[in-house]
Amino acid sequence: MTDLSYLKADFPILDNGVHFLDSGASSQKPIPVLEAMDRFARTSYANVHRGAYKLSVASTEAYEAARRRVADFIGATDEREVIFTRGATTSLNTVAFGWGLENLTEGDRILATEMEHHANLVPWQMVAKRTGATLDHVPITDDGRLDMAVLESKLGPDVKVVTVTGMSNVLGTIPDVPRIAELAHRHGARMVVDAAQLVPHTSVDVNQLGADFVAFSSHKMLGPTGIGVLWGRMDALEETEPFEGGGEMISDVTLHDATWADIPHRFEAGTPPIIEAVGLHAAIDYLDSIGMDKIFEHDQELTAIALERLVDVPGIAIQGPTDMKDRGGVVSMTMEGVHAHDLATILDEQNVAVRAGHHCAKPLMRSLGVTATARASFYVYNEEADIDALVSGLRRAGEIFGVN
Ligand code: PLP
Repeated sequence: MTDLSYLKADFPILDNGVHFLDSGASSQKPIPVLEAMDRFARTSYANVHRGAYKLSVASTEAYEAARRRVADFIGATDEREVIFTRGATTSLNTVAFGWGLENLTEGDRILATEMEHHANLVPWQMVAKRTGATLDHVPITDDGRLDMAVLESKLGPDVKVVTVTGMSNVLGTIPDVPRIAELAHRHGARMVVDAAQLVPHTSVDVNQLGADFVAFSSHKMLGPTGIGVLWGRMDALEETEPFEGGGEMISDVTLHDATWADIPHRFEAGTPPIIEAVGLHAAIDYLDSIGMDKIFEHDQELTAIALERLVDVPGIAIQGPTDMKDRGGVVSMTMEGVHAHDLATILDEQNVAVRAGHHCAKPLMRSLGVTATARASFYVYNEEADIDALVSGLRRAGEIFGVN
């Protein structure tokens, strides 16, 4: 078992003994991230790209250093391809509205999947309505994998964009994105990856993924809320119009018109998340100091242990792939006859924090035939003791509800 227990001291919020199994929703922040933001706010903060004075120059340098750090972390060859947004949701809206409204028209098809988070579904629905394009989706197999045969059959010259989660926030499924990107490109479609659950957990190289756009959030990868990333291949960004207008994104403005600043600034209207960028930079340093491969290994090992032990809990059904090669560290479950919210409440009484609900994936819930699941998700600070607590909490819930 990959031992990362030495990291726990960096997460003071866990000192009260909570078994935090909800990093899929948002991760905790280690001391180095909190300290980096605090230090920056105390010594170097000012608005960026504006003043000629020293503090503003220092702040701008820190903000742009964060951009370079993100580029390096995801293997981007050009730091201008990294756009700071408010989060994965805003990144995906930027693609849907900024690229979609410009490049989609009646008769075009957008191909998504049945397991998308609402953040990678609703913006496309909105854009489909406005452009006359249709939104199609690829279903999942009975064991929770993406149905690649259907995906291939649905590709055609009218498909202009394929958009896929890098890892399902409900099922843990990790689709074969490089393969899907290859197929999408063969048909002349753009490829979008919602990597909100992928980038925090494994080493991602955007060029190896083969995508044109990749979206993720800082708060799920030990960084602060309020900042996310949209990476776009330069030629794809050149096809994209700014989704928001305002200060700092223009080259010139008259009373009736405006021209855009260079990429990436044209996509960053208004005052950006500056302190948050410093926090994200520190989070990436922290993740890299552990090693992304080690983090992936650790999460996979915990997930495998959880899957093995959960099948023995009376009444528990697991959603999603059972084969570890198809999945990551998110485990969704239901207990026969017990609502997921009751399950989460009883687990909370045992100091086990899991998420219950539809996980912003209602179409997937419908396809699974459930209204809600309880979801345990693992990250660097979790250990086997958290699974012990989860399993014993579930057994307790089973006893209370007479499940056997
Ligand atoms: N995509 C996936 C797969 C997610 O799990 C989430 C958040 O749960 C999002 C997108 C949206 O991320 P955010 O709320 O940080 O914008």
